[in-house]
Amino acid sequence: MNFSNKVVLVTGSSRGIGRSIAVRFAKEGANVIINYRNNTGEAEVITEIISNYGNDCISIKADVSKENDVKEMVNKIIEKYGRIDILVNNAGIAIDRDFADRKIKDWHDTLDTNLIGVFLVSKYVGKYMREQKYGKIVNISSTNGLDTTYTYSVDYDASKAALINLTKNLAIEFSPYVNVNAVAPGWVDTEMNAELSKEYLREEKEKILLKRFAEPEEIADVVLFLASDKARYIDGETIRVDGGIKLL
Ligand code: NAD
Repeated sequence: MNFSNKVVLVTGSSRGIGRSIAVRFAKEGANVIINYRNNTGEAEVITEIISNYGNDCISIKADVSKENDVKEMVNKIIEKYGRIDILVNNAGIAIDRDFADRKIKDWHDTLDTNLIGVFLVSKYVGKYMREQKYGKIVNISSTNGLDTTYTYSVDYDASKAALINLTKNLAIEFSPYVNVNAVAPGWVDTEMNAELSKEYLREEKEKILLKRFAEPEEIADVVLFLASDKARYIDGETIRVDGGIKLL
């Protein structure tokens, strides 16, 4: 896949799945914008790494749940590159807490980033994609948004289910020139799951046909496919990447 000179924004890309997606796009020739919320150090390291692929890459600090941050980020990108070809809405948070202890604030924080953040970035970026008559948006949902087996991430699961619906609405809103699709990963080996107990993670691994969690690169591969012209007739769709959890 060749993304030479494409301008790609990956939200929440200083670590984890977003970082892998950013690296893959840079390897394929894209100008990548690393977006991060807090960790300037992590963002600088990854921006330097991907700049070594010879492309024009920058990092921008912005909280995707804050409208002003999003507006400023998109303005900066347009000032520098004049366009945005691909948007990957990857930034996300998960607060694991028993159902009985869950607070209203947990819901607000989770929905603000995982759902409203996607709406905001897509709204401001989509405007330019519509004008330039070209664009690809890929949202990172989760299998938790498709089916659920436990109740200690109820707000996360609801946000990821709603994101699948938002993906369809965005596809309608930005048709006919912008493809909007989603990826629903199962378990992926990242820091997001670092707090969970080893015993629980072992049990979860047993439920997967392939008997292992995904590497972030395995999610990036599917994101790049959806952002490529090979997927040009796929729109409003969600692709599971879960190692076969659904079959058990
Ligand atoms: P991670 O915690 O390692 O990375 C998430 C990144 O998003 C971090 O860099 C964080 O700073 C950033 N972020 C969070 N809130 C933000 C905000 N408001 N504005 C800007 N950036 C923000 O997690 P990950 O595992 O790499 O997750 C990436 C995406 O994949 C998330 O949407 C997550 O829900 C989804 N996902 C992860 C798994 C998994 O098992 N790890 C499974 C399915 C889906």
